Amino acid sequence: MTGQPLTADTTDTVATDTADAPLVLTRRPTERDLARALPVAEKVRLLSGADSWRTHDSAAIGLRSMLTSDGPNGVRGTRKDERHPSACLPCPSALGATWDARLVYRVAAALGAEARSKGVDILLAPTVNLMRTPLGGRGFEFFAEDPVLTSGLAAAYVRGVQSAGVAATVKHFVANDSETERWTYDVRLSESVLRELYLVPFEACVQEAGAWLVMAAYNKVNGTPMTENVRLLRDVLKNEWGFDGVVASDWHAARSTHETAAATLDLSMPGPEGPWGERLVRAVDEGTVTEDLLDDKVARLLRLARRVGALAESTGQADPDHPALNGRAPALVDAGLLRHAAAESFVLLRNAEGALPLDPGAITSLAIVGPNSVNPVIQGGGSAGVSPVYVATPAESLRAALPASVAVTSSAGCQTWTSVPEPPPGSLTDPLTGTPGLHLEFADSGGAMIAAEHRESANLAWWDGVPDTIGWGKPGRIVLTTSFLPEVSGNHLLSVSGVGGLLLEADGVTVIDDETAVPDDPVEAMTRPGELRAALWLEAGAPALLRVEFAPAADGAGPLAVRLGIVPATDDDDLLASAEQAAADADAAIVVVGSAELTESEGFDRPTLSLPGRQDELVSRVAAVNERTIVVVNSGTPVLMPWAEQAAAVVYAWLPGQEFGTALADVLLGRAEPGGRLPVTLPAAEVDSPVLHATPVGEGVLEYSEGLLIGYRGYDAAGITPAYPFGHGRGYTTWEYDSVECPGWLTEGSDLELTVRVRNTGSRPGKEVVQAYLAEPGDPARRGRPVRALAAFAVAHAVPGESTQVRLTIAARAFARYDESLARWITPGGEFTVHVGRSSRDLPLQAPVRLSA
Ligand code: BGC
Repeated sequence: MTGQPLTADTTDTVATDTADAPLVLTRRPTERDLARALPVAEKVRLLSGADSWRTHDSAAIGLRSMLTSDGPNGVRGTRKDERHPSACLPCPSALGATWDARLVYRVAAALGAEARSKGVDILLAPTVNLMRTPLGGRGFEFFAEDPVLTSGLAAAYVRGVQSAGVAATVKHFVANDSETERWTYDVRLSESVLRELYLVPFEACVQEAGAWLVMAAYNKVNGTPMTENVRLLRDVLKNEWGFDGVVASDWHAARSTHETAAATLDLSMPGPEGPWGERLVRAVDEGTVTEDLLDDKVARLLRLARRVGALAESTGQADPDHPALNGRAPALVDAGLLRHAAAESFVLLRNAEGALPLDPGAITSLAIVGPNSVNPVIQGGGSAGVSPVYVATPAESLRAALPASVAVTSSAGCQTWTSVPEPPPGSLTDPLTGTPGLHLEFADSGGAMIAAEHRESANLAWWDGVPDTIGWGKPGRIVLTTSFLPEVSGNHLLSVSGVGGLLLEADGVTVIDDETAVPDDPVEAMTRPGELRAALWLEAGAPALLRVEFAPAADGAGPLAVRLGIVPATDDDDLLASAEQAAADADAAIVVVGSAELTESEGFDRPTLSLPGRQDELVSRVAAVNERTIVVVNSGTPVLMPWAEQAAAVVYAWLPGQEFGTALADVLLGRAEPGGRLPVTLPAAEVDSPVLHATPVGEGVLEYSEGLLIGYRGYDAAGITPAYPFGHGRGYTTWEYDSVECPGWLTEGSDLELTVRVRNTGSRPGKEVVQAYLAEPGDPARRGRPVRALAAFAVAHAVPGESTQVRLTIAARAFARYDESLARWITPGGEFTVHVGRSSRDLPLQAPVRLSA
């Protein structure tokens, strides 16, 4: 039926003759023994989720339920709820920018500890897809555009999380590099491109870091859905790489019974429904799915349970209760570590005449400008989102870090929101408790209350935890009541969002009563549900009593979400003019621009690389009136910066997590060095990007026709100069590359050891990321292969005047290429060149290496 058998599980077994025969063993049962002893129906039950986030328990074998939770922004727990916050980390592209595997390990180990303290056994992270297109909606969840950088950091991430006894889930296997039509698109690519680019990080996480789970993606690869992909799941991942963990489906990605079971998918999530259950039991009865196949899946699940401490006799986590639900505070990741990691990720792209660090003693006034200075985007949207502990905004943190002698002004400069923002903290009061926030009621269809609670946030989402009568196609309603205190008199824009019927009353008068459409992608019910708006004149200081009623759509899907937005109507012309004036009046200006809340998210790709709203105009106008203009870009993926040369300094700050402001103040004021280097090329123009839009064509086909030439490899092949190249970034000191020691020859299959000597020639201690790129013999570009590719990297630190040695290992695999006709890796002989330096375009050292077969 499935052709080649599974060979990955080498567990020694003691067989029982029939599935329900009693198990008699004189030694500790293996996972396979336990699996075999279970009746078929029980095996099948274990293989689908128990609910949205949990696996089933099985008292008979001492198995407790395991709890999954999304990353990678942090560990959310089962609820996104301001009452149970999570540490919000720098996004993975920011971690990618650190190029520092040890730091990533520390952050991930702390994240694992937080997960554990929240009762989470399985973290649904890291995401190791590649930034094939700079427009990818989930690019902020990826580490880099390069597989070697991604592998080094992702493997460290997996080790870190798992060091806490929590399983990491490497996702989304594979070629899930963009979001448009993500449920169905069919990536067409060659085996060599798959092997040499997109599979590489998965292979590293499995083979080097021993990941305990892999998540099978929504998309198809070469015509076959990933949850049904026998060749990639069974033959490559399990048999070839020896993966002994669990392959879980992405949520609702398993859409067939027999095909997914045969492809060796192990766990169908979420549950309890899904394509397995009764149908899989029947398939076993009918003999179209063998019981051996079930045993292997169950054994893998039990091995995972043993690893996370969910089998009775295993040590480790024993508490199945979610501490966030029973009132115990979770052990959140240390804020100091997050602040350090964010500073280590900030990339100083440009620093004309040493504009940075700012000397607070040399200025008497500072204008802080930009929508993201007051309303930063600390994380990307979608399932990765967490309710952060707090948000340190750039404006507040900079003001706090500067001496009182510096006069600081703050102005947004323009508006970029596409969905009306949440009302500012402190402007809402719960009419029942009189405390900040709102009163939430779950009501039946007639409006009678079923349950009620106080909430602080007006942006609410639930996967579960609502009363039974509330949900898609159910009669119940969600009702919010709050009193809004306007700060200014004038027209205000009010909005309610959700998928379904929405009613808004202000002081008893209906201002909105309509329905929104059901989106194609269920995650959008939370990330960007339909929004209805109304304009209302409000008087400063005169509270308005607001009541929102939300009736979820009959045919909706995904998490339930409802949201209230309020913003005073303002005019961008006025905002721009006042920011420009503030900048003209100040000694220096810091402009924080970037994504808006819905710019970067799961579920959709960005339509453009341009900054939202009138931010480009804002930067140009500020830079024109203040020559000490420092621009900070708050974006997890590339944006165009047409004004870059006008600014004195430009810092790329990614989506830096809750410590954005504190880390930024550290870096801008010179208390920390910007430690980041670009993990992705920043284009000068959209058309320069080797791959731009990833819109499937025809029957949903996404052709990876660029082959191996994504990111810097594509720029190099086409001879295009980007705005800032992959690997680029300045610190606050300067470096000289003195020498590279490299053996002149190498035998096939061996790693290459390099010693690079670099010298800190500046006046401050600093960090340097030493990068080694490998160029193949001959003219690789003519064969459609990269001119050179990143092969190794390492971090060096030195004080002024110090010379230091860095050791780099280029793995044997870097010299190999995948031969499709032979279906294996081959290493061509000949003379390779090792290039060493500080970016893909600044490589001062070279050394030849002759490879003998
Ligand atoms: C996402 C996964 C996520 C899962 C559970 C899916 O839509 O693609 O990354 O782990 O939902 O939230």
